[in-house]
Amino acid sequence: MKDDNLNIIANKFTIEGLIDTIEPFGNGHINNTFLVTTSNKRYILQRISDAFDVTLLMKNIDAVTSFMALKSDNPDRQMKLIHTSDNKNYYSDESGNYRMYTFVEGSICLEAPESTNDFYESALAFGNFQKMLEDFPAETLFEPIKDFHNTPNRYKIFKETILKDKMDRVKEVKEEIDFALSREKEAGILQNLRDTGKLPTRVTHNDTKLNNVLFDKDTRKSLCVIDLDTVMPGLSLYDFGDAIRFGAATAKEDEKDLSKMTVNLDMFRAFTRGYLQSCNLTDEEIENIVLGSKTMTLECGVRFLTDYLDGDNYFRTSYAGQNLDRCRTQFKLVGEIEKNTEKMKEIVKEELSKIKNK
Ligand code: ADP
Ligand code: MG
Repeated sequence: MKDDNLNIIANKFTIEGLIDTIEPFGNGHINNTFLVTTSNKRYILQRISDAFDVTLLMKNIDAVTSFMALKSDNPDRQMKLIHTSDNKNYYSDESGNYRMYTFVEGSICLEAPESTNDFYESALAFGNFQKMLEDFPAETLFEPIKDFHNTPNRYKIFKETILKDKMDRVKEVKEEIDFALSREKEAGILQNLRDTGKLPTRVTHNDTKLNNVLFDKDTRKSLCVIDLDTVMPGLSLYDFGDAIRFGAATAKEDEKDLSKMTVNLDMFRAFTRGYLQSCNLTDEEIENIVLGSKTMTLECGVRFLTDYLDGDNYFRTSYAGQNLDRCRTQFKLVGEIEKNTEKMKEIVKEELSKIKNK
């Protein structure tokens, strides 16, 4: 793509000042991100991934960011969506669809936590996101990925894929299949609690990784969450559980040495503390926090296994068998969460009582 085209695109938005430079920015993998510097201000310009229905997606993001702008304690350090001169929330040309945000000045993005405190700070950011949107009508949001965390539906697809056995791989992974199937009932509990209204449907972020949080570069306190492509109605425990699955794991997602994989209880405590401090969860939500962590990990393992059986069509792989390795780390982590369930519940109780006694 030629820079003068990016210049034309950036000028379609209501930016202040004259454009000095436009440069690739950050380490995102989904969208193409650019930093636009004008004589007055800096902006983030993103070419939006073609995977999404852009009109509905941008409607979600517009609604959620404007709602948060009214609720934020520190609106200057939240990213805001910039509209085009004809007041659209994105711009399209033959090279794709583009959106623009204000650049959050003085921020850094961390690829991995360097301490429990970084993880705690990310929990504050995701919890605060939850809190700002607690009275947003979640059901009005579109689902960019249908049934994303509908675990029973994930199992349904898993079982259909076993029956098809298109790659003739079922015989190699009997142990993993049994592991998943023996937990199917428990894996459906959250969805059931959602369907019966016992757990509230909320606005969820669905990509609660540390690199989707901006931190203040000097104080290292979290400022806001970014990457709102997968915002949709869901359970707070999806966000919580997935953050634990990824951030409190002691091994990487495709580690072959499974003895390295367990749940880091200090990290679990740090995230639990931050999340409970920053948003108002119901008693039912709090009661199911550990189950949320387990369910998200199990569901993720089932998705990797399904993709392995299906011939690796969904998750990008860099070597043969990577999805099976990924499935195994997730199932190992599920087992570790099972072993540590009582300890994890105790941690939730302790952190909760600290907040109540304040
Ligand atoms: P992707 O979906 O590709 O991960 P993100 O929306 O997470 O894209 O953005 C990619 C990177 O750009 C982030 O990791 C962050 O470094 C930077 N970034 C995105 N939005 C902003 C913003 N408003 N202010 C400052 N940096 C940002
Ligand atoms: Mg991102």
